[in-house]
Amino acid sequence: MTAKPRQRDDIVEVAVGLPIRSTFHYLIPDALREEIVLGKRVLVPFRSRHVTGYVVGFPTELGVDSAKAVVEVLDEEPLFNPPLLELCRWIADYYFGPLGEVLRAALPSGIDVASCVTYEVTEAGRAALATESADPDETWLLSYLVDHPKAKRSTLLWRAPKRANALRRLERRGWIMGEASFLSPRVQIKERMIVSLPPPEGDPSRERRLGRKQAEVVRILREAGGHLPFETLRAHLAVTPGYLRQMAEKGYLLLRSEEVFRGEIGRGKALPPPRLTPDQEGVFGRISTMLVAERFETVLLHGITGSGKTEVYLRAIERVLTQGRQVLVLVPEISLTLQFIDQLQGRLLHHFGDTQGIAVLHSGLSDAERYDQWRRILAGRVQIAVGARSAIFAPFSRLGLIVVDEEHDGAYKEEKGFFYNARDVAIVRGKQAGALVLLGSATPSLESAHNGMLGKYVSLSLPERVEQRPLPVVEIIDMRAEPKGSRLSSALADALAQTVAQKNQAFILLNRRGYATFLLCVACGFTYRCPNCSVTLTFHKERRRLQCHYCGHERGVDPTCPACRGVTLQTRGSGTERIEEELLRSLPDAVIARLDRDVTNRRGALAEILARMRRHEIDILVGTQMIAKGHDFPNVTLVGVVSADSAMHLPDFRASERTFQLLTQVAGRAGRGDQPGRVLIQTFHPDHYAILHARNHDFAGFFETELALRRELHFPPFTRLVNLKITGSDLAATEGTAAALGELAHALLRAHPTFATLECFGPMPAPLARIKARHRFQIVLKGKYAPLHAFVDLFLQRSGALIRGNVHLGVDVDPQSML
Ligand SMILES: [Zn+2]
Ligand SMILES: [Zn+2]
Repeated sequence: MTAKPRQRDDIVEVAVGLPIRSTFHYLIPDALREEIVLGKRVLVPFRSRHVTGYVVGFPTELGVDSAKAVVEVLDEEPLFNPPLLELCRWIADYYFGPLGEVLRAALPSGIDVASCVTYEVTEAGRAALATESADPDETWLLSYLVDHPKAKRSTLLWRAPKRANALRRLERRGWIMGEASFLSPRVQIKERMIVSLPPPEGDPSRERRLGRKQAEVVRILREAGGHLPFETLRAHLAVTPGYLRQMAEKGYLLLRSEEVFRGEIGRGKALPPPRLTPDQEGVFGRISTMLVAERFETVLLHGITGSGKTEVYLRAIERVLTQGRQVLVLVPEISLTLQFIDQLQGRLLHHFGDTQGIAVLHSGLSDAERYDQWRRILAGRVQIAVGARSAIFAPFSRLGLIVVDEEHDGAYKEEKGFFYNARDVAIVRGKQAGALVLLGSATPSLESAHNGMLGKYVSLSLPERVEQRPLPVVEIIDMRAEPKGSRLSSALADALAQTVAQKNQAFILLNRRGYATFLLCVACGFTYRCPNCSVTLTFHKERRRLQCHYCGHERGVDPTCPACRGVTLQTRGSGTERIEEELLRSLPDAVIARLDRDVTNRRGALAEILARMRRHEIDILVGTQMIAKGHDFPNVTLVGVVSADSAMHLPDFRASERTFQLLTQVAGRAGRGDQPGRVLIQTFHPDHYAILHARNHDFAGFFETELALRRELHFPPFTRLVNLKITGSDLAATEGTAAALGELAHALLRAHPTFATLECFGPMPAPLARIKARHRFQIVLKGKYAPLHAFVDLFLQRSGALIRGNVHLGVDVDPQSML
């Protein structure tokens, strides 16, 4: 164990892609010396097999007595750079994720596909095989490749890891030919077809000659404003390019191709910059001074809805670009920020010459597209990347600014695999890069606002709307005074009718999709429950289906109650579908549309609804929280909230904060144009402080009340939380493991005086005790960072032996949701 340290230059540190928290040392064989560089993947022997690992360092001392040698290098170019590695090391430490898994999560998901190299035997190789001039290893490989042409390099190496050198010799001699699928530095130009209507020619009778399907094509195009990409059109109607070409030949359509970079960015309209308000001027002045200093700082920009935060972002981004540095913009949900990306291009295009200086990273990208974008960023050819949380890993090397828009949004928290919060990681990344981190929100999180109050962040604010527009008037409707069971109060119904009559638009928020929350048999009390989760199934009337919103489980509705056979099944509670139906009935002349995940599942549907809203082809848009996020529709003068109470009573210490944020954000959609806005909030709890402060647009008041409660109850930001999540498919094994882990936790707390200040709760069943057929238990820890981190570290070292069967232990540091 205590081997003498030796200074060596042939050792490499490798993080293996397995759930193991330590890294390992391997020897570098001479043949690979040139090829092994930081950021490439390697194949290494591990226990009795071979695994993929990442080169993360070159230690000069071997940590153990002896080490095995690296078998093969898997990449031709490095996949990550030193700044990204440094970030991943921090994440692995802070969030207790194995470094290999953190790197795998950081890298674009298509990477295995992307670096796929295939081989074929050449004529010379066949000749060598025929004349038996190859050695046994080479012969094995040649024969295998003759039988399996285009075999992947990875397949060959998994089947015959000892023959890696032989593979290399064959390639050098030209006996086999390798081909890298996406590693070619040439990015193929992709084109797409745009279908448009020709300008009207004053002969309306022409259209009457159209067939039914042809008329449908024309109708869809007309509704979309005259033109659509072929893919979008095809999503509405089954048409082939050939069919459209025939229509084009007869003069009904125009077809043209448009070059798109994979990753899809339009050109955007060139926009002149608007004049800044004095507030914007002041805020931008401060940010500008900080940017000139080129050093790390975190700025919390609290700008009320409609105050022009985006304009401040744009100016800051432009300033950083003129410094020759790079910008990363994080948004909670990329699909909702197309408008921002348009502005970004319109305003900043002249900095790049073409659209390729901007990378948009979103979940709709194919693996190849994602990999292209990654490599362009790594190569330094991208100046701005915009993306959702995983974009925090974009491999920039000269970052000057990280913008985190809507920093309070729960979507920044990754809760699959290992847990991290992209907003918090952004601050660490900014610190490492010497960049400015700009957190923006109309409703900052309690944590961020508290850091601003303490002076850890620079607090800047935009307290007024642009062009002196007033904030909307918010009225609270006490639903206890309405007839029992009514969904829309008379005040809201009247306001809607009035809005439509005045040719304005309205938003109606109900944060629950589907028709009814559940079906209830009023004779025997039966409800349909999900077989995999501890929740009731939601009724979707359009499809006549019951669906679980946690796991997606679906089933049909029985004609009679499955328990008592009575015809007594009734709907209870309401969702967006029901509100839409009710409005269609009460306002037959209004155009009503719905925006929720059921609708946006269809590709292109979201963009289409937003475009129709913008063109005022929709009078009332009913939706879930999706409608609350960042939209800027000047004709929306009324916002109605069907129920403010849905999130308020969840067993989660952030329930009030989330309620306040949602109400403030959705209220902010009203009155963004020339006409003042009005907001009606329906609630059974009109005296709740989250609702009262939302009514008064009083962030400071809410912050003060909520902060006092958090201090009293000892919750963040006054303490740190770690949630140890124990899940498993077998109840007895999961419960048993949770009990054993709980005993371990309490024993460690008693045994070590350094942990005396920590509090430990549980194990207990999670509020949602079962999701996706997995039982869920949790142990919640509270305390200061240092002892808490040390405790979890020790706990994880000791806990391995206690985990039974397929039970999984997840560590959620700084949990966003306690459900
Ligand atoms: Zn029944
Ligand atoms: Zn379910």
